[in-house]
Amino acid sequence: MACFAVTPVADMQETLRITEIFHSLQGEARTAGLPTVFVRLTGCPLRCQYCDTAYAFSGGENLPLSEILERVAGYQSRRVCVTGGEPLAQPNSVALLRRLCEAGYEVSLETSGAFDVSDVDARVSRVLDLKTPGSGEVARNRYENIALLTHHDQMKFVLCSREDYDWAVSKLIEYRLDSRVGEVLFSPSHGQLEGRELADWIVADNLPVRLQLQLHKVLWNDARGR
Ligand code: SF4
Repeated sequence: MACFAVTPVADMQETLRITEIFHSLQGEARTAGLPTVFVRLTGCPLRCQYCDTAYAFSGGENLPLSEILERVAGYQSRRVCVTGGEPLAQPNSVALLRRLCEAGYEVSLETSGAFDVSDVDARVSRVLDLKTPGSGEVARNRYENIALLTHHDQMKFVLCSREDYDWAVSKLIEYRLDSRVGEVLFSPSHGQLEGRELADWIVADNLPVRLQLQLHKVLWNDARGR
């Protein structure tokens, strides 16, 4: 007699490897200071020298999308930020982003800029990094992504030095980023470039960018889950 193994329902569902889900204040970008639920996906193929989320490179737990949505709903927040690691390194992240939008959340995605963002739901505000030479990962930039961005999206540079600043200004001009996206964010790499110094450069050059200081680090330093 043939014997058929029964696959549990949970195993047939789409899953994602998740490092943590928590509720805090958004520390970056356009919605800085607003209460937000964070879904941090596990894994990233990049190794930026300033990375502050190396704990998300491995570990985590596999969760069905339905359970992720359930946990997010438990916080009763209207904003959700999907972050990492690199969320788009897991193909099912695209489905999670879509389902969060369908559930009525205001959704943002933080991505390294090394992956194709064309399949991301248009309702999501994509916060796309352009990695600078000082990051050690400039070769991973996928410049084709820039043409896909709109005023609903944001572009972020984490700057380690004056050389990084000059490089970022050259990209700002080359791609006319300020007219393409809603916000161009210049952020000093923590411990490597003083915020005040970066502020002085931005003012001196009258740049159409927003200085971004990581609010969560000002408030809670590097505490996890904050
Ligand atoms: S892309 Fe982000 S998570 Fe990945 S190494 Fe760089 S800073 Fe860390």
